Amino acid sequence: MKMICISCPRGCELDVEKNGNEVVVTGNACPRGEEYGRNELVNPTRMVTGLVKVAGMRKPLPVKTARPVPKGAIDAVLFAMHQMTVQLPVKIGDVIIPGVAGTGVDIVATANM
Ligand code: SF4
Repeated sequence: MKMICISCPRGCELDVEKNGNEVVVTGNACPRGEEYGRNELVNPTRMVTGLVKVAGMRKPLPVKTARPVPKGAIDAVLFAMHQMTVQLPVKIGDVIIPGVAGTGVDIVATANM
């Protein structure tokens, strides 16, 4: 499987193959590329950003996952964000949804309101 490493701006083109139980990564210029390629094949994850409603205001609160979540959980994470309404005040880094959608990853605020 071909993929671009997005761990730094260089963007190495990786070739990631499964050889039995072993994952073989080539094309990486540094060890981070090997780790990225392996994770993308075995357990791809993404950071998720979004907006949640604020009680009594039109302007929503921007939020993100504190860590990357499995790609398969992204829809459930976005749904949980959509269902949420927060009360102000909120500071950057405040946990808005703990352990969202069974991932164990918190949704945190990315703005002060
Ligand atoms: S393999 Fe290393 S140098 Fe290449 S894009 Fe990934 S992090 Fe950057």
